[in-house]
Amino acid sequence: EFYLQQIEAKRNLNAYVDVYAEEALQKAKELDEKRRSGEPLKKLHGVVIGIKDVICYKGHEVTAASHILEGFTATYNATAVERLLAEDAIIIGSLNCDEFAMGSSNENSFYGATLNAIDESRVPGGSSGGSAVAVQADLCMVSLGSDTGGSVRQPADFCGIVGLKPTYGRISRYGLIAYASSFDQIGIFAKNIPDIALTLEIMAGADDFDSTVSLEKVESYSSLVQDSKPLRIAYFKDAIDHPSLDEEMENAMKSYLNGLSEKGHLVTGIDFDFLEYIVPAYYVLTTAEASSNLSRFDGVRYGYRVNDENIDLTSFYSQSRSQGFGKEVKRRIMLGTFVLSAGYFDAYFTQAQKVRKQLYDQTQLIFRDFDVIILPTVPSPAFKFGEKSGDPTAMYLADIYTVYANLVGIPAISLPVFTHSNGMPFGVQAMTNQFCELSLLQFSHQVM
Ligand code: GLN
Repeated sequence: EFYLQQIEAKRNLNAYVDVYAEEALQKAKELDEKRRSGEPLKKLHGVVIGIKDVICYKGHEVTAASHILEGFTATYNATAVERLLAEDAIIIGSLNCDEFAMGSSNENSFYGATLNAIDESRVPGGSSGGSAVAVQADLCMVSLGSDTGGSVRQPADFCGIVGLKPTYGRISRYGLIAYASSFDQIGIFAKNIPDIALTLEIMAGADDFDSTVSLEKVESYSSLVQDSKPLRIAYFKDAIDHPSLDEEMENAMKSYLNGLSEKGHLVTGIDFDFLEYIVPAYYVLTTAEASSNLSRFDGVRYGYRVNDENIDLTSFYSQSRSQGFGKEVKRRIMLGTFVLSAGYFDAYFTQAQKVRKQLYDQTQLIFRDFDVIILPTVPSPAFKFGEKSGDPTAMYLADIYTVYANLVGIPAISLPVFTHSNGMPFGVQAMTNQFCELSLLQFSHQVM
């Protein structure tokens, strides 16, 4: 009841696309009866969770905040959702986001933007902006997002909460609407590390429905999160001195790193030669994958279709897609189709794959000597609506610190530690090697 009242009172934030009010109340009632009868309680008994509108929950609409999926109902549960429900969580509704998770500001949603609750003239970040605001403004306890290039960490940073993107292959993508399949990962928003640890441990692990999920054992993150030890921490010198990084944030990062060494960690600035390649490589590869993934939305199988009996099949496809997809999604489908086309494939796609491989190798070398990599999460705090929407390249370049983790598949977390002089929060990003979520969470718990 509390969360439903909050959602109602803060409707203007536009965080939810759909709220399952009656169903959630009914479930809460059943859980309460279960508790009274003395039955043992499950791990998420009555925990109220919101899910990004790209994650399937059987019998509920899922639209990726796109006109083209309007009216489409999920026919099965995503594995992540299935596992939350099995622990008696209450799924309270679906959350607003950029269309098909493409964007950094939530301005690309078919339902209109979500507002940042700290300053409603500013963006909440994206693409999982609704998920971030839902936790920020107490519209649920924990929420799920998806992170292909920062869509959990960047809005967490803009909203002053915690956002985790696990290792690629840690959580099943079954039932997650695909943007770029070799990058996508379900992520978690919460206000503290123990909540993140518990939610992760429940959702993570092998799944027969997604062959890219690792068989690697899921550690008991929630019970071990308190442990801490001194760590070897690296930061990229060029990333901290980068011209795009807000000066006040640069200074905050530097004193934060000093603070870490005062706490007994070994902190070292290292050279990293690939910084200027990561955003281009990310946008070549993800748009290529998106152009393929989004070809299934043809007007026949899902959601919206053009209403005209007198057109041929090709016109039917093209008109359904032209009317169904928004501007940014079309831009990326065209970009992706271009980089995959004969004559350009080697110049762009193959080249970007090589960059990705180099990045991976370089990263493995770094983790031979270090336990954690620290970066800013975003180069500037939450910007105003409209400030960047006319300049897609500027919007893409602001992903400089987040896309790296997705290119190499490592886990990364944004921790809310600072407040800018303009009143907006901003965070620090920490990363560990693949499947080292436990030490990432232990470190985060210790420094938050
Ligand atoms: N801002 C990035 C993009 O627009 C990240 C998106 C994401 O992680 N889904 O692609």
